[in-house]
Amino acid sequence: MTRFEIERLELVQLLRERNITDNGVLAAIGAVERHKFVGPLFVARAYEDTALPIGYDQTISQPYTVAFMTQALGLKRGSRVLEVGTGSGYQAAVLAEMGCRVYTVERHLPLLTHARKMFDQLRVNVLAKAGDGTLGWPEYAPYDGIIVTAGAPTIPDPLRDQLADGGRMVIPVGDKQTQTIMMLSRAGDKFTLRQESGFKFVPLIGKNAW
Ligand code: SAM
Repeated sequence: MTRFEIERLELVQLLRERNITDNGVLAAIGAVERHKFVGPLFVARAYEDTALPIGYDQTISQPYTVAFMTQALGLKRGSRVLEVGTGSGYQAAVLAEMGCRVYTVERHLPLLTHARKMFDQLRVNVLAKAGDGTLGWPEYAPYDGIIVTAGAPTIPDPLRDQLADGGRMVIPVGDKQTQTIMMLSRAGDKFTLRQESGFKFVPLIGKNAW
C-alpha cells in the first residue's frame, strides 16, 4: 500500500467517527486521489481533514464538509448533479466516482482549466463550464442534486427552479464570515428545509449572490 492509500483509509475512518455513514460517499472519498487536486506545496497535507488553498483566494473544501454535503444529497448511481463552484475539481470527482452524472460550473477560468486537465488526466467523467453558477445550468436541468460549494446570502431562485421533483439541494447560506448549510428537498411545488450550522466557505459571487 502506498502512503497516500493508507492516509485515505485513515481519513475515511475519521469521517466514520464524525457520523458519515453513507457507504457510497465513504467509498468515493477512499478512492479519489485528493493529493492530485491540491498544488505541489500541499501534497503532504492532502489527507488532513482541512480546507487548503488552491490559488485565486479559493480553497479545496475540507473533506468532512465534502462528505457531509454529499451525504445530505442522498444520491444514487445515475443521479444527475449540478455543482456550483468547481474549484480544484475534487468534489466533482467524488460525485463522479459515486456514479453520478455531474455538471459543474466555475467562475474563475484558470481554476476551471486546471480542474479540466485533472478530469482528463484521471479520466473523470464530468461536464464542466465557466460561468456564473448562480444562474444554474438550465440546458441540463432538472437535477436530482444541486451542491453549492461557496457561501451565498440567500438561495438563488434559478437553482431552486432547476431542482427535480424529489431532488435535494445543499447550499451554505449566511454572512461572509460563517454559514449554515441549508438542505432543501423538493416534492412537487413544496420545498422543505433542514439546516446545520457552523461552516465556513469562500463567498458565492454572481448575479443572484454577493
Ligand atoms: N468544490 C470545490 C473543490 O472541490 O475544490 C471547492 C470550491 S471553493 C470552496 C468555491 C468555488 O466557488 C471557488 O472556486 C469559487 O471561484 C467558486 N465560485 C464562487 N462563486 C461562483 C459562481 N457564482 N459561479 C461559479 N463558481 C463560483
